Amino acid sequence: MAVQRDAARLLTQRGIDTLMRGERGTLEAAMAKLYATEALGKVVDAAVQIHGGMGYMREAGIETTYRDARIVRIYEGTSEIQRNIIAGQLLKD
Ligand SMILES: Cc1cc2nc3c(=O)[nH]c(=O)nc-3n(C[C@H](O)[C@H](O)[C@H](O)COP(=O)(O)OP(=O)(O)OC[C@H]3O[C@@H](n4cnc5c(N)ncnc54)[C@H](O)[C@@H]3O)c2cc1C
Repeated sequence: MAVQRDAARLLTQRGIDTLMRGERGTLEAAMAKLYATEALGKVVDAAVQIHGGMGYMREAGIETTYRDARIVRIYEGTSEIQRNIIAGQLLKD
């Protein structure tokens, strides 16, 4: 979980650095958004699993996070659209 969190942060920082250099950063932003949101899905799924039955119950609060984490793969460009952008950028190069 920590490795995925750190990898997401590093990809995000790369995107920020690219923008700060005045470059467009389309590829870097799409990679960061795709990776971070997919990683979040895996991490929060593991969090539910670690807590067993309580992880599934509303009282523990993890169930809410699990549901909230799902939307980030849909809004601000779905994962599929990010993949299309990444492929398009790589083919351009
Ligand atoms: C809680 C919430 C908040 C939102 N907030 C905002 C907001 O503030 N501003 C805003 O503008 N929108 C917002 N949205 C809308 C959100 O951006 C869209 O739901 C999202 O872009 C997906 O569009 P869609 O729902 O029409 O799905 P569709 O476009 O119908 O897509 C359905 C599925 O098909 C896939 N798909 C579609 N086209 C392709 C393609 N060319 N190649 C491969 N796969 C494809 C998608 O990835 C998805 O999995 C919000 C949605 C929700 C649920």
